[in-house]
Amino acid sequence: MSKIQAIRGMNDILPDESPSWQYLERVISDVVHSYGYKEIRFPILEQTQLFKRSIGEVTDIVEKEMYSFTDRNGDDLSLRPEGTACCVRAAEQHGLLYNQQQRLWYRGPMFRHERPQKGRYRQFHQVGVESFGMTGPDIDAEIILVSVALWRALGLTNHVRLEINNIGTADDRRAYGQALTSFLKSHEEQLDEDSRRRLQSNPLRVLDSKVPETQALLADAPKLSEFVSAETVSHYQLLKSLLSANQVSFTENQRLVRGLDYYNNLVFEWITDALGAQGTVCAGGRYDSLVAQLGGRGTPAVGLAFGMERLVLLMQETGNIPESISNVLDLYVVYSDDSQLGQAIMLSEKLRQQVQGLRVQCHVGGGKFSSQLKKAYASGAAFAVIVDPGSLRWRALTDESAAEAIALDELIQRSRALLV
Ligand code: ATP
Ligand code: MG
Repeated sequence: MSKIQAIRGMNDILPDESPSWQYLERVISDVVHSYGYKEIRFPILEQTQLFKRSIGEVTDIVEKEMYSFTDRNGDDLSLRPEGTACCVRAAEQHGLLYNQQQRLWYRGPMFRHERPQKGRYRQFHQVGVESFGMTGPDIDAEIILVSVALWRALGLTNHVRLEINNIGTADDRRAYGQALTSFLKSHEEQLDEDSRRRLQSNPLRVLDSKVPETQALLADAPKLSEFVSAETVSHYQLLKSLLSANQVSFTENQRLVRGLDYYNNLVFEWITDALGAQGTVCAGGRYDSLVAQLGGRGTPAVGLAFGMERLVLLMQETGNIPESISNVLDLYVVYSDDSQLGQAIMLSEKLRQQVQGLRVQCHVGGGKFSSQLKKAYASGAAFAVIVDPGSLRWRALTDESAAEAIALDELIQRSRALLV
């Protein structure tokens, strides 16, 4: 019979890799908590309508990438392709948004039917940071500073760069879209096929094209910056001065538009050159209309999302995964005589209870003493504890020193010392 394999583009995270993930998750939660953000958790499955109304009907994500199906009740559901829409849905539904300021974060798997390649998967993980109820550029700066703090904590500061843009209001973009469309229409024969399609459905996405001929053509196209309203410009100027005051370097990229429709004013991306084409490790922006668009009352908002797989890859690529985070054992407990099996289990239990955080593995499956010791060496533990009838021995596994007799009190003390 043929074996069943994982779905293409959906990864298993194996025990060798999980310490890197745990490390990253720990650092991220420490950083976001240090800014007072609170975790929110919401389901993986939502009404398909939620994403159509937020991300936009004519975006790649909604048109081509969602895992959507009709369930047994006939409801149209989708696996979440991103977290912001879900976060807004949950926060609105539970009354977290009005007459208050809210700082939230979330993490978990997202699903998009994209072509799998390095850094691009069909199930991937994001950590998102979102703030609600604050209109000023100060909260935009704070959101960006959260990411700056994360790069510092992970040792990645010199491997990422920030690009920002002001995309104006929805009205600004509509006016610009018309100007861009008429320019591009007059050069339609020079456009690649993808851009021609986008020209009809979502002209601003043409700015994102990777095709060199299209990029060359865009050099002469009208600029979004000529269409953005004065109010968004002064917001953007203030944000830039706050970033500079905090020594955050950035470049302005007038072509940065993002693939989700809900953004306004500020959009930004953190990019690395270490991962090839999948170089965006974090992206975000302001989305002041989304809550209302989903049926709630107007609530200003700004947020970002990190792509976890790309962060893990970047840490591997740049050698920034600390060695101490692997799955190491502290002690491996063996017994010199079969009669001591029960003692060995009891001793292991006692050690785990008395020394919080100690990692103890008790030998199972019996066998000769010498083969138990082989297992102890192979386990990666630093020390073995040998249970003899009526006494204990302590043995280093990292050098050749001989086993020595040890009393239980001393054993507990030495175990504690292993953790500091
Ligand atoms: P990309 O530019 O890679 O297409 P995006 O603009 O679609 O990304 P967002 O929807 O803003 O990305 O998601 C935020 C972050 O999540 C991205 O910057 C990236 O790090 C990560 N991400 C997005 N899609 C994927 C994917 N298919 N696989 C892995 N990570 C992803
Ligand atoms: Mg994408």
